[in-house]
Amino acid sequence: MELKPFEKKVWLSSPTMHGVELKYITQAYETNWMSTVGENINEVENVTCKKVGCRYAVALSAGTASLHLAVKLAGVKPGDRVFCTDMTFAATVNPVRYEGGVPVFIDTEYDTWNMDPVALEKAFEIYPDVKVVVAAHLYGTPGKIDEIRSVCSKHNAVIIEDAAESLGASYKGVQTGTFGKYSAISFNGNKIITGSSGGMLLTDDREAAEKARKWSTQSRESAPWYQHEETGYNYRMSNVIAGVVRGQYSYLEEHIRQKKAIYMRYKEGFKDLPVSMNPYDIENSEPNFWLSCLLIDKEAMCSQVRSDSEALYISEASKSCPTQILEELLKFNAEGRPIWKPMHMQPVYRMNGFITRDGNARAGTNAYIPGETRDAGMDIFNRGLCLPSDNKMTPDEQDMIIEIVHRCFE
Ligand SMILES: *Cc1c(COP(=O)(O)O)cnc(C)c1O
Repeated sequence: MELKPFEKKVWLSSPTMHGVELKYITQAYETNWMSTVGENINEVENVTCKKVGCRYAVALSAGTASLHLAVKLAGVKPGDRVFCTDMTFAATVNPVRYEGGVPVFIDTEYDTWNMDPVALEKAFEIYPDVKVVVAAHLYGTPGKIDEIRSVCSKHNAVIIEDAAESLGASYKGVQTGTFGKYSAISFNGNKIITGSSGGMLLTDDREAAEKARKWSTQSRESAPWYQHEETGYNYRMSNVIAGVVRGQYSYLEEHIRQKKAIYMRYKEGFKDLPVSMNPYDIENSEPNFWLSCLLIDKEAMCSQVRSDSEALYISEASKSCPTQILEELLKFNAEGRPIWKPMHMQPVYRMNGFITRDGNARAGTNAYIPGETRDAGMDIFNRGLCLPSDNKMTPDEQDMIIEIVHRCFE
């Protein structure tokens, strides 16, 4: 196969619009509901409750805002430790800090690349007073929900579920976004469906939903003037953004089918390489396949070193590494991405605790030393990468990507 750079960039995951979004945006415009009130907002809240199976959905400006209000609802106070998913986007954990909480990071398991319930149990042995756990479903793959829930209920801890990447994914037939006392979803531009931005807080607790609604609109009390008893936020979703989300909702299942087909095609295309795909619990969960990722076998890793801002590798016959593959993809005008760099390896969280399944709290390093695995999150970060997973990628384009990756292992 002759390889030429793609004329049109192949994206990691870009917005996929369908036209109907314009109808709802236009409706907002023509009826002059160009604010944070209107039919689109009411409608996307209703549709979300129906789809996900939660009682209340509060439409907000971002997934991050939803997580922030979830952390407030969970009652996190300055100095409180909160157990958090370690290998994730920083938006999962930053809101804990907004409230003065102290994230303690829980290592990752290899079966779904999410919070390791064994490490979580160890964490409760070390810090038995922790009352809140923030758990994400990475790349649209549900985590070990039953195990995490049973550890949390044993220790009377509340779960905040970060389902920002997993809208439409289910575990034992139940949608993600229903497993937290408070859950968050996101409509950021590269998610499975998008509003260009936006997010939602989901809960079955009516009082919590009402509080979130009030906080998100500047915490006005009922009075003839602007009366405030609590700190407020400007976190409400715009009715224009809600129009985009409303239009996208009818395509959620189609997007998931397309993403799944991409995942399966990669899986088939890489079966002769020393790599595996991001795994999921085939028996119990149905991911939304938001991003397709690769993990290179330990034996097939060439040497790779990453500083805080640069990456180097030494090319070797029949071996490769994420840095090489990402650089090659870029040469052909395709966008990949490293795995989320674990929070315990981030300078901004260098003083925070990190707990692995053997109960050790250890710091990560930036070098990949073959044969030496010190924590699961760091290991997956070192050996893994996200592949171009855009819905609009054609099978031919994907076959090219598969070939580019093969050549890295020659
Ligand atoms: C995208 C994302 C968020 C944040 O959502 P925004 O809508 O961008 O604020 C939070 N957590 C995870 C895991 C995400 O991927």
